[in-house]
Amino acid sequence: MRKRLLDEELLASLPGVEQALHIVKPYKIVAREWHEEDSVINVSGHPIGGKDIQIISGPCSVETPDQMQKAAKAVKAAGVKLMRGGAFKPRTSPYTFQGVGFEGLEMFREAADAEGLPIVTELLDVRHLDKFLEKKVDVIQIGTRSMQNFELLREVGKINVPVILKRGMSATISEWLMAAEYIASGGNHNIIFCERGIRTFETYYRNVLDVTAIPVLKKETHLPVIIDPSHAGGKAWMVAALSRAGIAAGADGLLVEMHPNPCEAWCDADQAINPDELKQLMSELTSIAQILGRNIGR
Ligand code: PEP
Ligand code: MN
Repeated sequence: MRKRLLDEELLASLPGVEQALHIVKPYKIVAREWHEEDSVINVSGHPIGGKDIQIISGPCSVETPDQMQKAAKAVKAAGVKLMRGGAFKPRTSPYTFQGVGFEGLEMFREAADAEGLPIVTELLDVRHLDKFLEKKVDVIQIGTRSMQNFELLREVGKINVPVILKRGMSATISEWLMAAEYIASGGNHNIIFCERGIRTFETYYRNVLDVTAIPVLKKETHLPVIIDPSHAGGKAWMVAALSRAGIAAGADGLLVEMHPNPCEAWCDADQAINPDELKQLMSELTSIAQILGRNIGR
């Protein structure tokens, strides 16, 4: 990539200059400015973006083979095409459950393969990448807390596995776009933005789903944008309303936490919907997609 010849800071420091502004975007590859058409990301045969909406669902964390088998069956039965689950969990406290690790990845792969579902899982540590590739993880999730882990971003930029890039909990849109540019500049353009709620003064809910970010990102980038209603609201009863809002606002998909038995979830139990609620949600979203002239779950 060509380096900028005119440095904003250099010009701004000159006498008589109040402000120096770039009139082209600092993010090149992800910007719509240079790529007008919507990019459609192909996740193991399932398209996300353009006219296609995809729902991704599954538990917050991988727990046991039985839990993963039940979850995979529920995902399939609801007509959802992609499954999520974390084998490595970024937890606020080092004393809480940290995920079952590589063993979990194995359980996840087996349960999902039995139902023919591609898998989405979070990469916390760059040292785990080879194992993720060996297990043929279909989509690598970069979590909120890692959005500006630049070394991690660079590494996933060198492969061609699709990446879901979650927004940092206090990240601005431009920081988020620049984080995506780190991945894209390495050659991997298969990036999906995921708005998962931002931190504000409000304490009633876990985070605030920034629905406004959806049209803004759709304007700024050609890449798909999905929302995570689970980590936004933090409560299962809010998931359907936030999901409908996200899809109505133009999101290209959802990342939703669903557990075969939410009360027993080892992680994020409050926000997990159950298999019946996932079915109901899919039927509501199918109607919304139809009104918008979009396909859901191809
Ligand atoms: C998750 O998806 O389970 C997760 C940890 O999400 P976030 O990075 O958005 O907190
Ligand atoms: Mn979670």
